[in-house]
Amino acid sequence: MVAIGAAIAAFTGVNSLLIMIGLKLQNPKRAFLPLYGSLADNALEIATLCLGGAAALLLVAHPAAAVLVLLPVIVLHRCVLMRQLTELATHDGKTGLLNDTEWRTRATTEIARAQRQSQRFAVLLIDLDHFKKVNDAHGHLAGDAVLHAVAAAISTETRAYDTIGRFGGEEFVVLLPGMHTEAAHAAAERIRAAVAELIVTTSIDGCTHVITGVTASIGIATYPDTAVAIDHILHAADTAMYRAKTQGRNQVVAYSVAAPN
Ligand code: GH3
Ligand code: MG
Ligand code: MG
Repeated sequence: MVAIGAAIAAFTGVNSLLIMIGLKLQNPKRAFLPLYGSLADNALEIATLCLGGAAALLLVAHPAAAVLVLLPVIVLHRCVLMRQLTELATHDGKTGLLNDTEWRTRATTEIARAQRQSQRFAVLLIDLDHFKKVNDAHGHLAGDAVLHAVAAAISTETRAYDTIGRFGGEEFVVLLPGMHTEAAHAAAERIRAAVAELIVTTSIDGCTHVITGVTASIGIATYPDTAVAIDHILHAADTAMYRAKTQGRNQVVAYSVAAPN
């Protein structure tokens, strides 16, 4: 029993530590301890280890009874597959952000809550500037690495309860609950600056590409300044984003009904 307990503790400790170090290296700005995740994140892993321990005990004491753990192992394995399928159906493979459908679903819930509780929120539409040139100069795989780095930068500069999605090709969308225009402008500026400072190094076919100078144009729309329907808000943010493009790119523009579109 002691040997099995020690093996489970050693495995869990080493495994978690390695994963936490990996996540920290990928994004040094994140705090270390929360990288362990919640009990829900780790429950499946712990349950699998417990079953392994039970199987080991049964193999020693009553080898034939080890068959009893087979069904729970199969069911747990199916749970893992379900989690992976849910992840694939709701997230974008290249950036790890929510896909457009899932972002809309979650944004709709957030918007309904804001309306119910008479609270405000902001939506940012972020479009990378001249991204085609990055692909043309370095290739699409390097372009994908830039998309991934931009997604990480947006995640770092936003709060845990903001809803971030990949809207389309090189476009991202963020819903910021509780934010008025000035606060959303500050958040968008932080994202714009973080993207502009990115240095993306990627190795493709033995050839190293270092990509700098990526910039983004960001449009902001806020509720209740715009109508509450999600398509209205997205259209307003899109209009503001295009205004940022025409004004010279690499800038943040908030939607205003009075301004020319
Ligand atoms: P603008 O400043 O006007 O937005 O210029 P742009 O080049 O960013 O915009 P345009 O719409 O002309 O081109 C978007 C580019 O984004 C073209 C396309 O190849 C690239 N793109 C879209 N999705 C992906 C993707 O998943 N990976 C890569 N590498 N590139 C993508
Ligand atoms: Mg675009
Ligand atoms: Mg673009």
